[in-house]
Amino acid sequence: MRVVVFGREGKVGSVLIPGLAAAGHEVTGVEIGETVELAGHDAAVDFTAPAAVVGNASAALAAGVPCVIGTTGLTPDGLRTLDEAAKGAGVPCFLVPNFAIGAVLMMRFAEEAMKHMRRAEIVEEHHETKVDAPSGTAKATAARMGGDVAIHSVRLPGAIANQEVILGALGQTLRIRHDTTSREAFVPGVVLALERLDRLPAGLTVGLEAVM
Ligand code: NAP
Repeated sequence: MRVVVFGREGKVGSVLIPGLAAAGHEVTGVEIGETVELAGHDAAVDFTAPAAVVGNASAALAAGVPCVIGTTGLTPDGLRTLDEAAKGAGVPCFLVPNFAIGAVLMMRFAEEAMKHMRRAEIVEEHHETKVDAPSGTAKATAARMGGDVAIHSVRLPGAIANQEVILGALGQTLRIRHDTTSREAFVPGVVLALERLDRLPAGLTVGLEAVM
C-alpha cells in the first residue's frame, strides 16, 4: 500500500516507518510543518499529538484517503469531526488506542475477570512526555469493565507504556499486567489495521478488536 505517516520523527513514527517498509508498504513520512500530496495514497497513519491529529486526519479524509490513528487524547468533538468527515468521504477512519496485541488481550481478560471479582483499579505508567492522562488504553479498559474503576496515572522517565489491572475479592487479588518494552510492539498492530482497513465501514471505528 502507499501510506503517509504523520509524525515521522516521533518516538513511534521513527520505529513504525521502517517497520511498514519492511512489511512491503511504500511509506512517505511527514513531520510538523511539511505538506504532502495526499490524493493517490491508500491510507494515512497518524502518530502525532492531540492538537495535531484532527487536522492531519481531516486533510487525508477530505482527499478521500482512509485513516489509521494511533494518537490518543482526542476530545469528543474531535471524534465527532472525524466520524462525520469519514462518512462524508465514504471511507473508514480507524482509531486504535493501543496497537500492542498483548494490551488488547489484557483489556479482554480484564473485562472477563470483572464479571467474577468485586472491585478493580487500574495503574497505568507511561513516559514523562506523554501529554494525555489517563491513557486512552486505561479509559477504554475501565469502560469495558463497566465504569466504576479508578485509574491511577504515573508519568516517569524510563517507562514506555505499562498497565496493571488489579482486581480484588474477599481474601484474594488478581493482577493482569501488560508491559511494552519497545515501540516495535506497535508495528504488527498497525500492519494488521492497514491490511484489514477495507473491511471497515465508512466513518469512525474504535479499537483493534474490530479487525482481529
Ligand atoms: P512524540 O515522540 O512526541 O512524536 C510525535 C511526533 O509528531 C513528533 O515528531 C512531532 O513533532 C510530530 N508532529 C506534531 N504535530 C505534527 C503535525 N501536525 N504533522 C506531522 N507531525 C507532527 O510522540 P509518540 O510517543 O511518538 O506518540 C505519538 C502519539 O501516539 C501520542 O498521542 C501517543 O499517546 C500515541 N501512542 C499511541 C500508541 C497506540 O498504540 N495507539 C502507542 C504509542 C503512542 P515535534 O516534536 O516537532 O512536535
